Amino acid sequence: MANAQANIGVIGMAVMGSNLARNLASREGNTVAIYNRSPEKTRAVVAEFPEAGFVASESIEEFAASLSKPRTAIIMVKAGAGTDAVINQLTEVFEPGDIIVDGGNALFTDTIRREKAVRETGINFVGAGISGGEEGALKGPSIMPGGSAEAWETLGPILKSIAAVAEGEPCVTHVGTDGAGHFVKMIHNGIEYADMQLIAEAYDLIRRGTGKSPAEIADIFTEWNKGELESYLIEITAEVLRQVDATTGQPLVDVIVDQAGAKGTGAWTVQTALDLGIPVSGIAEAVFARSLSSKPDQRQAAAHLPGPSTQWTVDDADAFVEDVRQALYASKIIAYSQGFDEIVAGAEQYNWDIKKGDIAKIWRGGCIIRAQFLNRITEAYDQDPGLVALVTAPYFTDAVSRTQDAWRRVVVAAAQAGIPSPAFASSLSYYDGLRADRLPAALIQGQRDFFGAHTYRRVDAEGTFHTLWSGDRSEIEAADTH
Ligand code: NAP
Repeated sequence: MANAQANIGVIGMAVMGSNLARNLASREGNTVAIYNRSPEKTRAVVAEFPEAGFVASESIEEFAASLSKPRTAIIMVKAGAGTDAVINQLTEVFEPGDIIVDGGNALFTDTIRREKAVRETGINFVGAGISGGEEGALKGPSIMPGGSAEAWETLGPILKSIAAVAEGEPCVTHVGTDGAGHFVKMIHNGIEYADMQLIAEAYDLIRRGTGKSPAEIADIFTEWNKGELESYLIEITAEVLRQVDATTGQPLVDVIVDQAGAKGTGAWTVQTALDLGIPVSGIAEAVFARSLSSKPDQRQAAAHLPGPSTQWTVDDADAFVEDVRQALYASKIIAYSQGFDEIVAGAEQYNWDIKKGDIAKIWRGGCIIRAQFLNRITEAYDQDPGLVALVTAPYFTDAVSRTQDAWRRVVVAAAQAGIPSPAFASSLSYYDGLRADRLPAALIQGQRDFFGAHTYRRVDAEGTFHTLWSGDRSEIEAADTH
């Protein structure tokens, strides 16, 4: 049996786990224990990175024995059954007070279930969202841990030591209890879907509207990255657009099959939003746009359907590009506003005390949606922690006031040109719905009352009413039972 010489352990030696273990090992004061179901992977990692000084084990018992108390282990294995299998093994060999961290992409409701079950053994269970992909795991991710305050006391300093740093602050905070961390990570991914879709729509509109080449559009994105749109996703978009395929000499983007994949976290965000009753239309459109792209049979069958009968042209390419930039910024604000609405609703539903400003802060570095404008979100929630909609904060109100005319022009242009822009268009509709004085929801209530006696409320009286539609159409007061 190994001596209890490691202060932290990592289970799962695929790309994320091995990189995270190397990141931990590179920080002052850490000795890292490692374990993987297939021992040959563990041996390969030890051989490849001798400088890490890993304490390697080939059984879970040996792994537990190699950790000092309270034992702390981060699981980085395939989400789902893999995670459950490792948790079951760990609860056999860990003791009360020890800490199991799941750093995989777990569904937050699974984390709630697991935390409850593990807590009964006296062992702490922390579901921690980790963003930033392989490079983030190695160099510094954004980390969103849930779990108990007790676990955070031990875990906090370790996670702070490996997290990305943004403006001097580590990109990690104790998000809330049980599944709060994985919930917030899920929303992060949902916003990522919306952001990527908006950027893709901006590219498509500029390319088809102005005839600019991918390399020229890459230059535009590089320029945009110096202003209010400054972000990792804008930066890498320029890199992708500039890439030339070695085989054909074509822009790489033209030889990639136009069917977007997904691993499911965007869909989780939308499914959860539906359950919570929160309109995350930008994220939903982004998820659906990927689904539509991945239906080659339908797309082929529909390829002959007519587009606009009149030719659409852009008169002033520079002005159009600037309009698209502004539409992108406005739509992005809506996507984040909707994402934070879902965080607020989730926190209320599951009793999490989530500090919205702190979440925006820990997304400033390490993660895929890192962006300059997250500072503005932190400021907005610092100024008004009870902000009812992010887009109504003064900074964002100014931003949409400034950009909304361009936004409308772009959505009109896209419709006239027959260029799909689901995220731009739905974000604008959401914005107009939010600010509307009266919505046609009144008519929907009338329809519901007509066919289902679902009742309605009046603008000029308290109570609930029903019209006797199949009788004399007089109105009666009704109990609100529907
Ligand atoms: P992965 O391909 O998701 O999983 C492979 C690892 O899981 C291997 O170590 C494998 O062990 C282990 N595993 C699978 N089933 C197991 C079981 N039943 N019992 C024990 N171990 C099992 O690895 P990854 O890409 O490094 O991701 C790890 C986690 O991080 C996942 O939850 C993923 O969603 C999350 N994540 C990934 C990224 C990314 O960019 N890749 C970003 C953020 C989060 P064997 O070697 O024995 O097969």
